[in-house]
Amino acid sequence: MTTDFAATRTLFDLPEGVIYLDGNSLGPLPCATAQRVQDCVTKEWGQMLITGWNKAGWMEMPTRLGTRIGRLIGAAPGTVTLGDTLSIKVYQALASCLEMNPDRRVILSDTGNFPSDLYMAEGLCRTLGPDYQLRTVSPEDVAGAIDETVAVLMLTEVDYRTGRRHDMAALTAKAHAAGALAVWDLAHSAGALPVDVTGGDADFAVGCTYKYLNSGPGGPAFIYVAPRHIDRARPALSGWLGHEAPFAFDSDYRPGAGIERMRVGTPPVLQLAALDASLDIWDRVEMADIRARSTQLTQAFIKGVEATCPDLILATPRDPERRGSQVSFRHPEGYAIMQALIAHGVIGDFRAPDILRFGFTPLYTSDADVEGAVKILGTIMAERLWDRPEYKVRARVT
Ligand SMILES: *Cc1c(COP(=O)(O)O)cnc(C)c1O
Repeated sequence: MTTDFAATRTLFDLPEGVIYLDGNSLGPLPCATAQRVQDCVTKEWGQMLITGWNKAGWMEMPTRLGTRIGRLIGAAPGTVTLGDTLSIKVYQALASCLEMNPDRRVILSDTGNFPSDLYMAEGLCRTLGPDYQLRTVSPEDVAGAIDETVAVLMLTEVDYRTGRRHDMAALTAKAHAAGALAVWDLAHSAGALPVDVTGGDADFAVGCTYKYLNSGPGGPAFIYVAPRHIDRARPALSGWLGHEAPFAFDSDYRPGAGIERMRVGTPPVLQLAALDASLDIWDRVEMADIRARSTQLTQAFIKGVEATCPDLILATPRDPERRGSQVSFRHPEGYAIMQALIAHGVIGDFRAPDILRFGFTPLYTSDADVEGAVKILGTIMAERLWDRPEYKVRARVT
């Protein structure tokens, strides 16, 4: 295991002259990925054709790579699989929980949750009928809102806007004491900080691979099911690859053994090949070391920005224990400031209505990146370089 983060940085193909602080939204390209994907295309798909499903192990990839991700989130081998997008995995986890808690009708979440998670919950309630409802409270009020009506608590551990971190173990224990199940979204946790779904007693967990795990745009999501539920969870999206025997082509659905039942359809083999290459880097590091380094980087950034940019208001908890691996600042002209930053070679992103968001990813973010970003942001603020019409034109993706 290495803590030489100057060495891990050389494993990424980062463009010259750019300070990349958006690996929390789209991880960069590992150097090994292009060749791995190329081999999968030409040697496997090209030469093996359909026999690749058996010969190249394509069919096992979702659960084999799920186990590799499991190491990063405290999940036992064989309890994580991959496929689809995170929104779909949220739906699957929620639907399974509602079915396992049939006397209750409420999904509880917080107003800071990522909209897609809330939309999926709303859509599921609509499908199930008028008795079902999504209840949202502010993040600080979640613990107090867990009561005997709640079927499932659905939370994102690290808030995508502010970086605030919920206490997974405490809230899960509270949910269980009230007879509710807990689904945790690890989109901003997996690869960002040590996660322990086993110790935290999560019932289900879901997350993305294209953010901190660097699988590339559109990379598949993962889903974890606690071993105690794995053989009784009935997946709502009962696709053929979650069937006990997909190639028996039975007309009736029977869920597959263990985590296999959470698969839906044909896995995205090329994207999984990209993830496989990225996970080779993760095999070399310990999450505790990543976390320690991430804390240094976020502390240094907060200190630097607060010293040079008095107009930017910190939106992220000051206590490193209470945040993920990102730092957010508020400013009414946040969009224009971020566009100016990007034009000056510092890439972060903007989240409506007023959040400038910066992700810190020890595998490739250096002290020099932090210093450079602080300096450029300081100049943009002091000289009002953001105040130009071209920086105020909203693009489709912010
Ligand atoms: C990034 C993110 C998503 C995105 O979902 P996709 O279906 O992969 O587009 C969902 N939820 C959270 C909390 C996220 O951070």
